[in-house]
Amino acid sequence: MQDAEGIKRLLAEDQAKDVVIIGGGLIGVEVTEALVSKGCRVTIVEKLPQIFGMLDWEMARLVTQHMEAKGVKVLTDHTVVKFEGEGAVEKVVTDKETLAADMVVMAIGVRPAVGLAKDAGLAIGDFRALVVDGTMKTSDDNIYAVGDCVESKDRITGKACYMTMGSTANKHGRVAANNICGRKDIFPGVLGSTVCKVFDFTVGRTGLTEAAAKQEGYDVEVVLAPGPDRAHFMENAKPLLLKLVVDKKTRKLLGAQATGPGDVDKRIDVAAMTLAAKMTVDDLANMDLCYAPPYSPAMDNIITAANVARNKLDGYIEGISAKEVHEMKEAKKDFVFLDVRSQAESDEVRLSNSTLIPLGALRLRIDELPKNKEIIAFCKISLRGYEAALILKAAGFKKVRVMDGGVVMWPYRKEK
Ligand SMILES: Cc1cc2nc3c(=O)[nH]c(=O)nc-3n(C[C@H](O)[C@H](O)[C@H](O)COP(=O)(O)OP(=O)(O)OC[C@H]3O[C@@H](n4cnc5c(N)ncnc54)[C@H](O)[C@@H]3O)c2cc1C
Repeated sequence: MQDAEGIKRLLAEDQAKDVVIIGGGLIGVEVTEALVSKGCRVTIVEKLPQIFGMLDWEMARLVTQHMEAKGVKVLTDHTVVKFEGEGAVEKVVTDKETLAADMVVMAIGVRPAVGLAKDAGLAIGDFRALVVDGTMKTSDDNIYAVGDCVESKDRITGKACYMTMGSTANKHGRVAANNICGRKDIFPGVLGSTVCKVFDFTVGRTGLTEAAAKQEGYDVEVVLAPGPDRAHFMENAKPLLLKLVVDKKTRKLLGAQATGPGDVDKRIDVAAMTLAAKMTVDDLANMDLCYAPPYSPAMDNIITAANVARNKLDGYIEGISAKEVHEMKEAKKDFVFLDVRSQAESDEVRLSNSTLIPLGALRLRIDELPKNKEIIAFCKISLRGYEAALILKAAGFKKVRVMDGGVVMWPYRKEK
């Protein structure tokens, strides 16, 4: 509270023009937006290769690009070494550069103060938070604990985790109170469902990221499904960039992430229910979600994403991530990067070293493509890219893949 008052005072006195935020997590990013709206020049310094560690790298890049478009400087892979200044901070020195600063906000995470609990002899877990059972009881039969000071159970992996959310703390409170009062109630654990506003974007996630799922040993299928968040002909339709992570073996959803100006929270909440019910993408694809044009597309974004997952799991489409394509380009691998959008779309924005053959002309111009090279097809959202892949495969091309997410979700520089 004192920090918040201090920030407001410096802003009111016009003493906070260059602000450095240390830490690119939820709080660092939310504070950034607030300070930009007050006219500050804001730099985020993050020691990891990405902000928003709760997202996969490419999803975090899309949010970073949006923040940069709003004038925020985002420095990843930078570690703060020291502050410099006479009486007040004037510079923030990182391991790579020195930044002017007249205010610094530290947003590097929270850690429970467990001194009292330790002194009382209560069990402390690997995350240095209190260990509780499903009833929220600590290792002492007469002491219950809830909120940010306790470890939770990850509902997907079953392992202990540490997630500090107000949504969780409130549920903990009721479960503990029920049990203390003699009513049986069990807290089942968390999925890490999170939502956050970042300028004109919303960012949301639930379950495991692709990186976390792989670390847990899952063989994953990944879907990037960009599209309008309601019927495309509606004036209020906005882009929504959705990612699903699916277990190849069981076809169950493992996690979802979304960003963009469209309605993120609705899809993340549906994904959270899918995860809690341990449903497969086949279940999700036929879920009876509500539809009217002002609210969603006839096939909701998450249903489309589930169907893309099914197409991939069933071998109808072979995807490749933008990251892998980028690495192939950097390594100067010999392949055709086939853009099947229209000339007008390509004139507006394009990806380097691509070959443009609009989808409508593909059958006529198919001989221009070499049969001995890999072809990676894409379009704006890679729906036409998918159709192109089907045409090419039917024409005898052996190695054809579709770039997940298309131009819209390309996390690198685009040519204008
Ligand atoms: C800037 C910010 C934004 C957030 N936004 C969201 C969000 O949008 N959604 C979400 O789900 N979560 C959000 N959170 C997280 C959420 O606020 C916490 O998870 C939640 O408040 C935890 O509840 P709690 O009761 O465990 O702890 P707290 O809300 O921190 O309450 C603990 C209280 O205990 C008091 N206290 C501490 N030690 C003692 C002591 N020895 N004796 C007496 N009192 C003591 C503290 O002063 C405090 O009032 C946000 C957190 C921050 C900091």
